[in-house]
Amino acid sequence: MTRALLIVDVQNDFTEGGALGVRGGAAVAEGVTRLLQDDPDRYTVVAASRDWHHGDDDNGGHFATGAEPDYVQTWPVHCVGGTTGAEYHPALDASLIDLHVKKGQGVPAYSAFEGTIDGGSGAGDGDGTVVGLAEALAARDVDQLDVVGIATDYCVRASALDALRAGLRVRILTSLVAGVAAESSNAALAELAESGAVLV
Ligand SMILES: [Zn+2]
Repeated sequence: MTRALLIVDVQNDFTEGGALGVRGGAAVAEGVTRLLQDDPDRYTVVAASRDWHHGDDDNGGHFATGAEPDYVQTWPVHCVGGTTGAEYHPALDASLIDLHVKKGQGVPAYSAFEGTIDGGSGAGDGDGTVVGLAEALAARDVDQLDVVGIATDYCVRASALDALRAGLRVRILTSLVAGVAAESSNAALAELAESGAVLV
């Protein structure tokens, strides 16, 4: 049994004060760091995703341009790659992360499994190849994945559903997720439980 942690989008723009700040986001960042520090051997692999959009286009209709965002399909500009908003929240200790996934480069991407990991991490780290998260986890024999992060009702939901589709045993650490809205977050957790994830 090899267990990994997936930290979804714990970024400045998705936490308090950010372009799409979610209440409780900073607390998630602090809590995840504590989780990893308390027991460094808990996870064989720690992966984290970041929404990482283009700043010079609408990322396939993901950014609202010329109209108000509908907060379903279109969003205010957020997480432009290379900006402070796209960086991990400062309370998340990035030195504890093994795999850095970037997603949404020019396209809407809610799931970390749609992203890529630069600089190898399939078989040979640092060999310059680009792989996806499912491939990188499989290369490390990961069969169990704990999921935490932001937002419960969007990217956590999509990432966990993809993890289940990839054949992983998935747990959602419900004290370490934060959602945009209570109703949709509860619905997302119920859907995940129905799909086979364990809520812890
Ligand atoms: Zn986005």
